Amino acid sequence: MSSSNCIWHPFTQMKTASPPLKVRSAQGAIIELEDGRQLIDCISSWWVNLHGHGHPKISAAIHQQALRLEHVLFAGFTHEPAEQLAQKLLEVLPKNLKKVFFSDNGSTAVEVALKQAYQYWYNRGEMDRTSFLCFEGAYHGDTVGAMSLGGRSLFTKPFNDLLFDVHYAPFPADHSKNVFEKEQQTLSFIDSELSARSFAAVVIEPLIQGANGMRICRPEFLTQLQKLVHRHNTLLIYDEVMTGFGRTGDWFASTKTDTQPDIICLAKGLTGGFLPLAVTVCSEEIYESFYSDDSLKTFFHGHSYTANPLGCAAALASIELLHAQPDLFAGMQQRHQPYLERLRNYPCFENIRCCGTIAALDVVVQGQKGYLHQIGPQIRIRLLELGLLVRPLGNVLYLMPPYCITDAQLDHIYRGIETVAKERIILF
Ligand SMILES: *Cc1c(COP(=O)(O)O)cnc(C)c1O
Repeated sequence: MSSSNCIWHPFTQMKTASPPLKVRSAQGAIIELEDGRQLIDCISSWWVNLHGHGHPKISAAIHQQALRLEHVLFAGFTHEPAEQLAQKLLEVLPKNLKKVFFSDNGSTAVEVALKQAYQYWYNRGEMDRTSFLCFEGAYHGDTVGAMSLGGRSLFTKPFNDLLFDVHYAPFPADHSKNVFEKEQQTLSFIDSELSARSFAAVVIEPLIQGANGMRICRPEFLTQLQKLVHRHNTLLIYDEVMTGFGRTGDWFASTKTDTQPDIICLAKGLTGGFLPLAVTVCSEEIYESFYSDDSLKTFFHGHSYTANPLGCAAALASIELLHAQPDLFAGMQQRHQPYLERLRNYPCFENIRCCGTIAALDVVVQGQKGYLHQIGPQIRIRLLELGLLVRPLGNVLYLMPPYCITDAQLDHIYRGIETVAKERIILF
């Protein structure tokens, strides 16, 4: 048995997948394999990396913190990196968000949000506020609560009976001609749902549904959604696990759209892609419903590594880098744009779209689309040969590069995509 035979990889059919590529090191946007090959990381290593791999400032911050305090329990104790990080986060988040709860990853950030929203009503004695309104196709993570909030899909199929029921509204993706009508239909549907029963919260991936294929909605939709949700006196939860920290071209989807969720979930980019860390940040009003002499109103939730100081130190360094060069994320859409215009000349691509640092397109395919469509792996393998790391979502090819991507690297990426487009007839 080789040393790799004892490892079970995520989202991988171990029987049919080709052996994993062994990585030796990574610098900036480049991943170097054991065999010496170099790949451009076009997807920021599953959307986590912001400033490039091995950034010296973040590496140094982790090193310095490890020499001082690597970890300590967070119940009954606190430490400087966590306190500073909470402060720095509040400075860039919507102003109504006041209390920072730490956890470990996007799924736990979502679990915390759903439990906070649920117990908020419980603590206030409104016991009937038990339903969640979510969006078709949403992805909120792989733990059971987060899966429940997400759309039912082939990922959730074996577990569907285990998941709690939620209500779904259609997500008004803007790559269609009648987007305005779709938005109005969705809003009136939500209006009637919220009138019909008592909801704990409405949960959305604001601006972009990620795992479901980089589906973008218009900022105007979020403005109206917020109004509607608040008119019904319901909570609004933003899952900004993917969209946070510059991905949409602004600090957050909420700041870009000038909307204010009652709870926000942040994870992927929080530490710049160095360490697993997440936060769920809520409004004063939610916090107040737990703040009591009654110990039964406590939020009984926590993880062993809550507010890990190394993660907090990495996050502080990463946020400093974002402040130092906001033009890197704010300006990336303009860098994608001319390339995307060129791709419009290829009839094999449709719905070419961009939101901030994220660019995406649909490859025109025969038959049923979806995550398992064979075109995804075919494109991935061909682009790998061209030195590019991508992971299409079915027939959706997307780019989400680290903000340090150079002009030459971006050029290389888009030339690779054009090569695939030209070869398309032979390939598929
Ligand atoms: C990735 C993701 C999650 C889950 O985060 P993990 O860190 O993988 O658990 C949740 N919500 C959204 C929108 C995501 O993109």
